[in-house]
Amino acid sequence: MSPPATASGATSDQSLDDRLQAFVGLSSGSVTRGQDAVNLPMIRHWVEAMGDHNPVYVDEAAARQAGFPGIIAPPTMLQVWIMRGLRASEEADRARAAGEAGGDGPSDQLMALLDEAGFTSVVATNCDQHYVRPLVPGDHLQVSSTIDSVSSEKATGLGVGHFITSRLEFTNQHGEPVGSMLFRILKFKPRPKASDATKASEPASAQDPTAAPRPKRPRPALTQDNRFFFDGAEQHQLLIQRCTNCGTLRHPPRPSCGHCRSFEWDTQVASGRGTIYSFVVNHYPQIPAFDYPLVVALVELEEGTRLVANVSGITPDDIFIGQPVVVGFEAFDDDLTLPVFRPDPDRPAATAATSAAPTETRKS
Ligand SMILES: [Zn+2]
Repeated sequence: MSPPATASGATSDQSLDDRLQAFVGLSSGSVTRGQDAVNLPMIRHWVEAMGDHNPVYVDEAAARQAGFPGIIAPPTMLQVWIMRGLRASEEADRARAAGEAGGDGPSDQLMALLDEAGFTSVVATNCDQHYVRPLVPGDHLQVSSTIDSVSSEKATGLGVGHFITSRLEFTNQHGEPVGSMLFRILKFKPRPKASDATKASEPASAQDPTAAPRPKRPRPALTQDNRFFFDGAEQHQLLIQRCTNCGTLRHPPRPSCGHCRSFEWDTQVASGRGTIYSFVVNHYPQIPAFDYPLVVALVELEEGTRLVANVSGITPDDIFIGQPVVVGFEAFDDDLTLPVFRPDPDRPAATAATSAAPTETRKS
């Protein structure tokens, strides 16, 4: 099969499927070399973040005792060693969003072809890694990728689309294979929502009809375990998951009870009263769907569970740990209502002295 001349050009007599299949086996882009060789500091950060206590990743003696020549990197760090960093990724995302995707390689052409055919959304669906041998400090990786397969059109829960699988081959500084990865995405036509038709006919803003509509807040990833929480918020109820076997409350929602392991649960309506257990004031990076400074608090409910939520009705300077708060509900758009806490008028804050406590702790 010969590669298509251009994404949209002279091959329009071919069916879309034929044109898609012509990409299979082509290189997806240039070879990427890791910024840093495999190294102990990055391994340390990874195992700390992941809570992985296997000593072979940080302790020479333990690694040798386990039959390795020395410390090895966690195999699942494979992709870490070729990542280009947050800033470069964000710049690439910005360029893509601005339509200056730039690249004209086979992968860019394949994406452009699917975009033109209406498959404009993308979601990552699968990642399978294969490890040839453990990576050790000093290994310096590079990765090349090819388009492994493009599926025919499939109906999925997100909408119809094509699955695209890329094969990434990782080699070290000597060109020896050390691992591979199959990475699959779904490029799909988003299903229109009933509410979108209504919104399209409304001006983006009452003040300035030419203003771009404000992006929506990110959607929660709904599962059969957590859906009740968001449905409850829609009804202006703050619900806590409760084990029906032993009565233990739990949050965030999960399938089974951490106390008795029962899978049976129902929910309890919280009073909505709680206290600020901890908080951060987020200034940066700023995402257009949010107002800044953004207070994100860990609220301890009087029932005992804690949840993360925004706090409104207070300037960031006045918020403190231990502050009594009460829940309210804010509809951010037609599909998203979330609990938002505010200072509890029935339980006025004791004194500012309370807020000195964490400061003193930091000084000691
Ligand atoms: Zn239980």
